[in-house]
Amino acid sequence: MCLYNQLNMELPTSLKEIQKKIAENQLTCVDLVSAYLKNIRASKNLNAYIEVFEEEALLRANQLDKKYQLDPETCGALFGLVVSIKDLICYEGHGVTAASKILENFKSIYSSTAVERILNADAIIIGRTNCDQFGMGSDNSNSVYGVVKNPFDTSRVAGGSSGGSAVSVAANTCLVALGTDTGGSVRQPASFTNVIGLKPTYGRVSRHGLLAYGSSFDQIGFFAHAAEDIAIVTAIASGADEFDATCVERTDNIFTTFGELQKFPEHSKTKKIAFLKQSFDAALLDADVLKSMQTARTTFEKLGHTVEVVEFNLLDYIVPAYYVLTTAEASSNLSRYDGVRYGYRSPESTNLETMLKKTRTEGFSEEVKRRILTGAFVLSAGYYDAYFSKAQRVRRLISENIDRIFNDFDLIILPISPVVPWKIGEKSDDTVKMYMADIFTVLANMAGVPGISVPMGFGEETNLPIGIQILAKKWCEAELLQITEKVLSS
Ligand code: GLN
Repeated sequence: MCLYNQLNMELPTSLKEIQKKIAENQLTCVDLVSAYLKNIRASKNLNAYIEVFEEEALLRANQLDKKYQLDPETCGALFGLVVSIKDLICYEGHGVTAASKILENFKSIYSSTAVERILNADAIIIGRTNCDQFGMGSDNSNSVYGVVKNPFDTSRVAGGSSGGSAVSVAANTCLVALGTDTGGSVRQPASFTNVIGLKPTYGRVSRHGLLAYGSSFDQIGFFAHAAEDIAIVTAIASGADEFDATCVERTDNIFTTFGELQKFPEHSKTKKIAFLKQSFDAALLDADVLKSMQTARTTFEKLGHTVEVVEFNLLDYIVPAYYVLTTAEASSNLSRYDGVRYGYRSPESTNLETMLKKTRTEGFSEEVKRRILTGAFVLSAGYYDAYFSKAQRVRRLISENIDRIFNDFDLIILPISPVVPWKIGEKSDDTVKMYMADIFTVLANMAGVPGISVPMGFGEETNLPIGIQILAKKWCEAELLQITEKVLSS
């Protein structure tokens, strides 16, 4: 049940192609935006967008076309790039709700640094996309706007929490999407929808203007069809920011320059690649996922790399530690939504205390409340040592283990999700089952390293999209993108 026959899939799928067509007078920004808007209408049933900035995007396209006609030299590196943004990322004067009731009708009073930087480089933002509430979820069912459907089988989920962003790219309604990744929310929906998804190194892209979930885990990440497009957008969005002290300036690994999209810097040709042992564990993985790991292994060997299987004994502790730490951070981050300063306020309150209680009871979803309560519990005086500080120690052990593997290897490979995209509603009643789907993705956020989801086509048994995950050392996104490009063209 694929929708693609209703969509215009003839549109160029890389910025380079778009800029070439514009230079050859075969395409304008207005043409492009109009075609994407058509695809948005045709794929409406997928529920990817919360709001489409139709008129505004057309107006901006028109202005950019004029700017180009006057002098192409004045156009920015992202000229011709149409982008969607997850409903957790602030864009001045536009709604941002985190797919929640508590922020219904709330408008950003400033833009996030990432948005500001891509706009300065002449990108066009076409709309904001559906997601799990405050980024909490793995299949986009935790949204006041409803679930996002998988374009390849509409009875199945598109993944989460950035499900709308992934689908916006998969259904060719924009070229690049901005999502956020706290524990896999860019990589997992990317793999469920056959696109590339990058979670950069923690500290690469500013978190200013990203509604906080787990601040020591959160990163803005990118979806696209072409590795090169992710490279250029990451390069432009990244860099030090006075509003985010964890964000640093890097002069290495600058991926591209405008005009000619340069080749990523060549790292050593033959790479040492570690596959986590669990990547071949038939008891843990769906048959198609296992198959994708075997295919990946052969592909990397054929490409001339050295492949080894390595032990990683901490996998069982990852999901519990992740949920202790992120709920703790979330309980603190979400305390600001109290009905006083932002968004929704319960109308029936008679005094401050009931106002606070009712606003938060009515404004947050069950899942968000579950996490706030869990977080407050693990941080409480009686349980802090038993849960929170223990989970912090587990996080350090995990990071050290990953560093140790990276002493001997350039890249680590593992699945994205142990299972293929599931049926809508299948995991909604079983929280633990839903959390366990994150087992392979939270690792990168625990250790702060970059991770990418590389599409590996469609499973033989299920015919559903499957991606593999590659992790690199901190700041080595260029290496990830370079190998992604090689795998996709092999
Ligand atoms: N599924 C994970 C969670 O619910 C990851 C979410 C994310 O990366 N934002 O926490």
